[in-house]
This record gives sequence, C-alpha cells and structure tokens, in this order.
Amino acid sequence: MRDILPEESEGMSRIEDAAKQCLHSFGYSELRLPLIESTALFERGVGDGTDIVEKEMFNIDSRDGEPLSLRPEGTAGCVRAAIQHGLAFNRISRLWYRGPMFRYERPQKGRYRQFEQIGAEAFGIAKPALDAELIDINHQLFARLGVDEHMKLRINTIGSFAERRTYVEALRAHLESNRDALDADSLRRLERSPLRILDSKHSETRAVIANAPKIEDFLDADSMHHFEQVLEHLQSLGIGFEIDPYLVRGLDYYTHTVFEFETKQLGAQGAVSAGGRYDGLVEGLGGRAAPGAGFAIGIDRLLLLCQSVNTEQASPRSSLLYCVATDEDSLKAMMSIGNQLRKDLAGVPVVVDTQGGKLGTQMRRADREGARWTIIAGESERAEGVLTLKPMREVGEQSRLKYDALVLRLLEAHGGLS
Ligand code: ATP
Ligand code: MG
Repeated sequence: MRDILPEESEGMSRIEDAAKQCLHSFGYSELRLPLIESTALFERGVGDGTDIVEKEMFNIDSRDGEPLSLRPEGTAGCVRAAIQHGLAFNRISRLWYRGPMFRYERPQKGRYRQFEQIGAEAFGIAKPALDAELIDINHQLFARLGVDEHMKLRINTIGSFAERRTYVEALRAHLESNRDALDADSLRRLERSPLRILDSKHSETRAVIANAPKIEDFLDADSMHHFEQVLEHLQSLGIGFEIDPYLVRGLDYYTHTVFEFETKQLGAQGAVSAGGRYDGLVEGLGGRAAPGAGFAIGIDRLLLLCQSVNTEQASPRSSLLYCVATDEDSLKAMMSIGNQLRKDLAGVPVVVDTQGGKLGTQMRRADREGARWTIIAGESERAEGVLTLKPMREVGEQSRLKYDALVLRLLEAHGGLS
C-alpha cells in the first residue's frame, strides 16, 4: 500500500470533486459504507470463483469468529446496505459511493493493494435507458476532465441467466475441444466458470477465444431488444462505442449490459471504469428481487491518465498568498487579516508565517512555499494602517496599500478569482 503525497492528492481531490458534482447533477445521492464487511457477502456478491474472492481478498479474523474482509469493491456492500435499509425494494434509488478498496495483487503502476474507486448503483429500473445513463455519467465526467478522447468504451450483453446457461454450455464444449491450447488458469476455470476464460490475457487462449461461439447467437428477442435500445441511446447521446462480443464481467450476477472504459495511455492497466446490469444481485444477496445496474471508476488510474494527457492543471497553490509579520504585535494582527483574506479571496490559500524571524528568512520561506504574493506587516505598516504587497513571481514593484485596495488588486490580478 502506498502513501499519497500532496502533489498526487491534489489531483485526486480534483477528480473526486468533479465526479461528485457530476453524480449529483444526475440526481445520485452519496452512501458512506463500511470498509469491512463479512467475507460471505463478497463470496456471494462477487462470486467465490472470481479472482477477487479466490486470490485478492484481505481477510481478517474478527474477535467473535465471523470471517471478515477488507472490501475489494463497492457493489456488494452497496447492495447489502440497500437491502438492509429498504432502498431497493419497490422504489427507485440512485446512489453513489467512494473510498478505498483493497486487493491483494502484485503492485505496479496503476495497480495497488489499496486504491480508490468512485462507483454508482441504481436500483428499481429495468429499462435500457438506465444502462445508457450510467455510461453517460462516465462520459460526462471524462469530458469534464478533458480525457474523453483517450477513452474507448467497449460494450457487450451477456443476456439473461437462462440464455447464459445455454451459451456457457456451448462455450465449454468449444473450450473442451481446444483443451490443449488453454493455459493452466483457464483449464482450472473450465469446470466452474468458463465465462471467465474469455477474460484471459494468455495469447494461445486468446486464439481459442477468437473462434468461440458468441453470446448474441443465444439471445432471445427481449434481450436483443434491450441491448439494441442501449446502443440507440448511446448513439443519440453521441457516445461512441465498440461492441466486444467477448467482454464479460467478473461477477456472477451480471445480466444483459456489461461495459468497460479503457485507455491506451496506461499500458496493461488500461481499464479505468467498468460496470453493467445485475438484475439478479439484490435477490442473490437475500433481498426481494429488484433490478440494478452500476459502475465503478478507478480513481488512481483516472489520475494517471489525467496526468499523462493534460499536464499543467493550475494548482490552487499556484495562487498562494504568504503573510509575513516582523514583530509580535504585527503577527497578532496578521493572524486576523489572514482570516479576512480567506473570506474575501475564497479559494486562495493564505499561509501566515507563524515561525517568524528576520524578514529575509521569512521571505526565503515564502519563496520555498511557492508563494505568488507576499504580504508584509511591520511597525511602519501598522503606524500607517497599510500592508506591503510584494509580487514573488512576476515583475512589478512592491506597494503599500490599505486592506481594501490590496484585496481589489489581488482580485484583479487573479482575473476575478473563482
Ligand atoms: P483489472 O482487469 O485491471 O484487474 P478489474 O476488472 O479487476 O480490473 P474492476 O473490479 O472492474 O477491475 O474495478 C473497476 C475499476 O477499478 C477498474 O477498471 C480499475 O480502474 C480499478 N481497479 C481495479 N483494481 C485496481 C487496483 N488493484 N489498483 C488500482 N485500480 C484498480
Ligand atoms: Mg483485477
């Protein structure tokens, strides 16, 4: 697990703020969920044949013997909460959550043992327009962050449970007859979860998959219609997509639409967001049957992408005001002036030098902090009722100004400030 240092956390907050605004603008409300849930929830909710549950969970002993796990993803917990608090039965709920997820994986760029996700789930809507809306939320967010051009949407349908059962039989038969070409992992999955073999990255296995039967040949008219409707909505929303007949999701309860946003910019860790419909999950976790659909965005990867494509995002620190006082009385006054500035210049960070010392020493500190302006108060300023304003990063003389004039000057210089 890694520490997120200020440089990165700033970008992360920016993404989280944008995502939050975007989700609220679609009418989704935030759920805050525990980081720990019972292991059984993930075995049932994610599926005990999945990589996540088989290999990636951090399991912990609770004092009373109930096996618990650090959450590897958010959907299971969200559905549990929706059932527990009656948010899924006989009503429509649009929910989102965010926070750390934990998976025991080999850490590398874009793959961490603790990582951040922002996810959304909607309950009670069986219609294809919802699937399109969830994709649209992603699309809107990526556009807002200026990365939509680097994102490719892959989409597929995996049909209803019954259709999938027939498909899985056909798929298994195809894979069986190509046993010799399958990798060890895929052979192990052949019995219990042949669908997941479609996810294999192994090249010989991929060659077998390329000739495998396709799910669309096993769908009935309703399922086909659902998928076509989703695609029509996407077209009408102007969202480009690529149908990938072999895209599946790790969870057992997914039905119909599955999708993934991926980018080429991040090498092997190209999946940035993934989701789909899971009409069986609420019931599978003990609730009364209710349709559901959702997605989860990997924030760490989205940040890496933002960093790689639009480098110089203005940091709020680039407008830093650094306040310096040269004697104790001036420092007392400056602490209050600092508060007034924080109100009048909302959004601009204002640092008051509480360490003190010689003016030169404090100015060097201001420089090290990357201040754009320094405000100086000493005995002579106090006597005259003014402050000295000194630009640190652009040419220009320092000036002695009354407070109001100083605020006006700063507002002008920052182009109105947001
Ligand atoms: P991958 O195929 O890369 O392992 P996944 O299918 O396991 O991804 P999901 O369970 O669909 O991922 O999670 C949704 C998103 O969360 C992913 O698209 C990715 O952006 C992010 N994510 C998943 N695992 C990690 C991780 N270990 N570190 C960072 N981000 C991750
Ligand atoms: Mg994974």
